[in-house]
Amino acid sequence: MNPFVYRDNLLHAEKVSCAELAEAYGTPCYVYSKAAIQDRYHAFADALQGWPTKICYSVKANSSLAVLNLLAQLGAGFDIVSAGELERVVRAGGDAGKIVFSGVAKRADEIRRALLAGIYCFNIESRAELERMESIAREMDIPANVSLRVNPDVDPNTHPYISTGLKENKFGVSIEQARELYRQVADSRYLHATGVDCHIGSQLLDLAPFQFCFEKIFELVDWLDEQGVRLQHVDVGGGLGIPYAHADQVPDPVQYARVIAPFMQGRQLELVVEPGRAIVGNAGLLLCRVEYLKNSAGRNFALVDAAMNDFLRPSLYSAWHQISAVHREDGDEVLYDVAGPVCESADLLGCQRSLCIREGSLLAIHDAGAYGFVMASNYNSRMRPAEVLVDGEQAWLVRKRESIEQLFADEVIPD
Ligand SMILES: *Cc1c(COP(=O)(O)O)cnc(C)c1O
Repeated sequence: MNPFVYRDNLLHAEKVSCAELAEAYGTPCYVYSKAAIQDRYHAFADALQGWPTKICYSVKANSSLAVLNLLAQLGAGFDIVSAGELERVVRAGGDAGKIVFSGVAKRADEIRRALLAGIYCFNIESRAELERMESIAREMDIPANVSLRVNPDVDPNTHPYISTGLKENKFGVSIEQARELYRQVADSRYLHATGVDCHIGSQLLDLAPFQFCFEKIFELVDWLDEQGVRLQHVDVGGGLGIPYAHADQVPDPVQYARVIAPFMQGRQLELVVEPGRAIVGNAGLLLCRVEYLKNSAGRNFALVDAAMNDFLRPSLYSAWHQISAVHREDGDEVLYDVAGPVCESADLLGCQRSLCIREGSLLAIHDAGAYGFVMASNYNSRMRPAEVLVDGEQAWLVRKRESIEQLFADEVIPD
């Protein structure tokens, strides 16, 4: 489903006009659709219903308490990468017993907090981390469920910054090392080898790398089984891509499930998946307003009130996001580079976009529900944007725009 459609040439989020949202909450402003998030969660749940499954939503994609609460109500588990994300899940009403904790450099205090919270499993990424895990579990006298994150050395054919399953990446351990480490786990009274996991990258548009990765992972599961190590679950990570342009062909959860199916056939294993982008990416947009139109050396710029600090993906990954005028008008379209006010040439939200706009026009930057607000910063002392969750005809301000007071509330000037 696409919750963002034009009615009478005016862009709507579900049943609410984006112009009204901009009026009520100001710009820049992230807008999320509750129905779209629910729809995508159900698409995964339905596609994977053939097996006992935990859908552990990857919190880093969009960690708004409102979004986490919605997913918790739908029965989701959560994939976290920090103590901050753990606290968010708990505050949002999520079940700690359905949390998996990923990340290459978990601090001791983060491990302690997660052990106390009773999370489902720690995804371990190195021998050093395994040793720290064991000594903390021993010291606290709380046994820990662990899974080794295996790096299958597969090229996911995605942007280098979001590919994580190549042997030169910092993530996970090799299959060979995993075999050794599972022995170490078997010898510990404080560690239980609950599962195995992997995550090879993000925005995968092709299922072949998943297939290759699953072959390696399940081979390891079989080998462990022969050694008498019986795992409870296999965690296949996240990474399923989403369409950003109309022409993008992306696999859906049903096709994804078909790749998993032969591997799960006849096994007494629970499946864990960690989708982030695929659940929230298409469910959000960023509203902004044109401040000025400018022509410089033959190039037209639309200078808007959103910038790379609000939405980093175009600058960081050269990501392409559709940009459209909230009011669709009949008139001549002009090619614009859409840029923000931040003092960096990288502060471009989109290049060479055909738009019919004027000063004051509202623009929507589409598919900004994942890796949007979560990457926002205060660079240039800009306040982070508001976030709104739309549910049918209702809009909830789920995060107020930051205030000037908040901007330096924790700073001191020495006497
Ligand atoms: C980022 C991440 C995910 C989610 O990735 P998406 O591409 O958003 O689905 C899942 N698992 C781990 C370990 C991650 O780091």
